[in-house]
Amino acid sequence: MSILPRPRADSPHLAVIGAGVGACALVASLRRQGWPAERISLWESGRGPGGRTATRRSRQDSHLRIDHGAPLFNITASPDPALLAPLLAGGWIEAWQGTLACLDINGGLAGRLEDPLCQGQLYRGRQGMEHLCRGLLALAGGAIDSHYGILVRHLETSSEGRWQLLDSAKELLAEADWLVLGSTLLAHPRSRLVLGWETLPLAVGAAERADPDLVHSLAAIASIRAEARSNLLMVVQASEAAPWRALPFRLLSFDTAAQQRWGLRRVAIQPLEDGRCAVVAHSTATVAAEYLNVYGSRSSIARHLGMAPPQQRETEVIAALEHGLQEALAAWLPEPSGPPPPEATPWPGVHSELMRWGAAFPQLPGLPQDLALCRRSRVGFCGDFIEGPGFGRVEGAMRSGEALARRLLEAAESVQ
Ligand SMILES: Cc1cc2nc3c(=O)[nH]c(=O)nc-3n(C[C@H](O)[C@H](O)[C@H](O)COP(=O)(O)OP(=O)(O)OC[C@H]3O[C@@H](n4cnc5c(N)ncnc54)[C@H](O)[C@@H]3O)c2cc1C
Repeated sequence: MSILPRPRADSPHLAVIGAGVGACALVASLRRQGWPAERISLWESGRGPGGRTATRRSRQDSHLRIDHGAPLFNITASPDPALLAPLLAGGWIEAWQGTLACLDINGGLAGRLEDPLCQGQLYRGRQGMEHLCRGLLALAGGAIDSHYGILVRHLETSSEGRWQLLDSAKELLAEADWLVLGSTLLAHPRSRLVLGWETLPLAVGAAERADPDLVHSLAAIASIRAEARSNLLMVVQASEAAPWRALPFRLLSFDTAAQQRWGLRRVAIQPLEDGRCAVVAHSTATVAAEYLNVYGSRSSIARHLGMAPPQQRETEVIAALEHGLQEALAAWLPEPSGPPPPEATPWPGVHSELMRWGAAFPQLPGLPQDLALCRRSRVGFCGDFIEGPGFGRVEGAMRSGEALARRLLEAAESVQ
């Protein structure tokens, strides 16, 4: 697939909200089929692209790099997404080479790995999962008008019938002929509850447009449930990291009984270049539901709402997750010497944080594919919440972006 620019002064302007895998795959596919770069704008509330495949970095600590969402991704259906081969060829992603293991209820390694996230062909972003989305945007080529750190808060319709994107202060960010939502945030009733919004931005736009397809899509999105995750992020100092780096796996999945026992689903071991080791322990959905209103002070929700979550509750959740992890990995890690000081981690030289994902994994039924494009109101949706192969995973998000690009190109041509 090569870039076939068809520069047309009258190409419609497209605004894409979100820079997760689905939206980045959409932009890459559109560009490679000729949609001019200057007719696409991309709006993302995070500091960079990636969404749930982002890599945590720090300006003060150049060696820190933690894949705090998806640590890898898998392709289970065929043919491969069209963008997979160019991502591999460009060195943006690589085959996953780390050892996978499964933990049983006795804290030993089980024979069979049944984790649905580890079936098929496994890949990861090279030098961090963020390179998956960065690679997709590089494949898009051209100077896409990209905006990071901006939450699109309102959607309105101009007197000419174009989409208007506005920020929290109701300042106009952009106007576009077509709108794509790479996330359910502006369309799902959950946002009203979590963010305290009185109205749903897309519902306001839909009322203005009287499009039965969009009403149908909104109803389908409203019924999508998602599992949360409350994850423990740890960085182990180099002087204490040897036992962690020597663990005989890089990704440990817990079988069902082990999940129930320790409240954890997976542990990703991510050695850092400077000798430290990052460890991400993913909670079960049950544990996340138990601590549903504890966001974690580093979460984007806390940042956007300008709120400081109660430290005490956060400390409790961290302690519970650490306790589960300590017991689950007891066979490999040295016993801590003496009782730990109150409110400290069980291990020396470890800094722990909570990272909560309110909607980590959408559950079926998702948004049916035929509702992913509402031609009359000129709205499209992409992301892992669209039904199809790879639903609820990176694969589904990537495929949904590719599929929406095909449909958008057709639709945009037919209305010109
Ligand atoms: C802890 C965890 C572990 C996972 N592990 C795996 C795994 O091993 N394998 C796998 O395949 N998948 C895994 N997943 C799922 C995978 O990460 C997702 O399926 C995939 O990343 C979804 O991509 P997306 O483009 O649909 O959405 P997202 O990544 O959620 O992207 C949506 C983006 O839109 C932005 N956004 C939303 N609304 C607005 C707005 N109004 N204004 C501006 N920006 C906005 C968000 O900030 C976000 O960046 C995991 C997810 C989590 C949370």
